[in-house]
Amino acid sequence: MLEPAYQADVVIVGAGVAGLSAAHRLTSAGVTTAVLEAAHDVGGRMSTEKVDGFRLDRIGQLLSTAYPELRLTPGLDGLVLRPFAPGVLLHSDGRHHRAGATPAHTGSVVGGALRSTRSARGALHAVRALASAPRPAPRPTALPRGGTAPLGTAVDQARLGAALARIASAPVERLLARPELPAARGLAARGLPARTIDGFLRPLLAALLCDPELTTSSRCADLALRSFASGRLCVPEGGAEALPELLARSLPPGTVHTGVRVTSVSTNTVTTAEHGEFRCRAVLLATDARAAAELLPGLRVPDFHQVTVVHHTTDEPPATGTALLLDADRGGPVAHTAVVSQVDPSRAPAGRALISSTVLGPPPPDVETAVRMHLARLYGTSTTRWETLAVHHTPEAVPTMRAPHDLRRPVRLLAGLYVCGDHRDTSTVQGALHSAHRATTAILTDLGARGSMHRADPLPASRAA
Ligand SMILES: Cc1cc2nc3c(=O)[nH]c(=O)nc-3n(C[C@H](O)[C@H](O)[C@H](O)COP(=O)(O)OP(=O)(O)OC[C@H]3O[C@@H](n4cnc5c(N)ncnc54)[C@H](O)[C@@H]3O)c2cc1C
Repeated sequence: MLEPAYQADVVIVGAGVAGLSAAHRLTSAGVTTAVLEAAHDVGGRMSTEKVDGFRLDRIGQLLSTAYPELRLTPGLDGLVLRPFAPGVLLHSDGRHHRAGATPAHTGSVVGGALRSTRSARGALHAVRALASAPRPAPRPTALPRGGTAPLGTAVDQARLGAALARIASAPVERLLARPELPAARGLAARGLPARTIDGFLRPLLAALLCDPELTTSSRCADLALRSFASGRLCVPEGGAEALPELLARSLPPGTVHTGVRVTSVSTNTVTTAEHGEFRCRAVLLATDARAAAELLPGLRVPDFHQVTVVHHTTDEPPATGTALLLDADRGGPVAHTAVVSQVDPSRAPAGRALISSTVLGPPPPDVETAVRMHLARLYGTSTTRWETLAVHHTPEAVPTMRAPHDLRRPVRLLAGLYVCGDHRDTSTVQGALHSAHRATTAILTDLGARGSMHRADPLPASRAA
């Protein structure tokens, strides 16, 4: 039996960043909202495991300060983004090469750009892109440095710089009007030397798209390169969970209910395993793609890229500072790695370094040993004494975005039934937030009224309790 006490204007299923940011937009517009989350914590894929003072993310560590929704999403006031060093550090033939730094990567440009956009909107967000974290002076490294490989001559590098500058300033519409190919084929059409493509663009795009074979749509690859060139790669201070927790904290008390699994939905009811039915005026599905298709069987289930993140600690950090290190040689399972505690010191206890490394695609049989051996070559140091803190494997980490990829999948299925999440947009935090933005715009238009229609009531006691 339905009870009036269960009512809210909108019920959102899922408390990942998409569901939480949607809740924020709806409650800010005066629409009462209940968010139902099956897990015991909010955040979905953006979770952070705490082990002995370390903060270990499940996701790979690559957000961009140029993600527009990090600025546009209300509730992210106070989010602190810790940037990597400008550009990336490439490992090739036993050498380290800095590459890909653009004017937008240097100095206070990043923070300045965020601030000026905010003032244009008259908002007082406190999203901050900090300069690199204070860190001890780098120790001497055994790795030989310098040389032009893998990027080619100075002329080749100048052409790469010009190409990155062009893409940074290109309007999104122009990028989306280009022919759509698999990214690997699209790279060949860039007019850059093969060495620049294989030595820089391939490893960079593989890392940005979680796609080692570059089967992703070239349009999505262009958007990823644009974010790279016009902002700084960064991590949220305190771990990936900082972002959803900030959103959850800024919601009216009693909005989010964890440990509540939704078993079916319609335009005006949501049935849960633990708390019976909720009546409402609209339902927003904000789960991952597979769970969304289980609740609404007509929805498509995409293929997924699998990702493994391995966390190590040592008391002698390698000398790469705050750089993101990419393997241009594909000489082992690690696609990218960083001493994350140098980028964000809050992620490790004093005196310890946290090294987080990402393996894309199916992991090798003994992934821990293979990663440890590969890291020794990448960092040019012995890793035998490094301690493994965690190996996180996510088989369905990010939906693939093969060509032709619809970047704006419909979020309004029927009046009263909406869907958002990274599978409706790009498979990124930006995509998840943007899909929520689109969905809440549709809901507010359909509800046609601003202002509260019901008072949100507390959850009834669990039947199982
Ligand atoms: C290993 C890995 C690496 C990544 N690397 C990057 C990266 O470098 N850069 C980047 O931008 N993005 C990256 N991503 C992607 C990014 O994390 C996701 O795009 C984003 O977190 C998706 O958010 P979401 O809210 O759409 O979905 P989710 O975070 O999946 O949230 C959905 C929520 O719905 C809940 N739910 C599901 N079914 C039910 C139900 N029946 N009832 C109630 N609740 C339910 C789930 O428990 C979950 O909390 C990575 C992801 C992974 C896993």
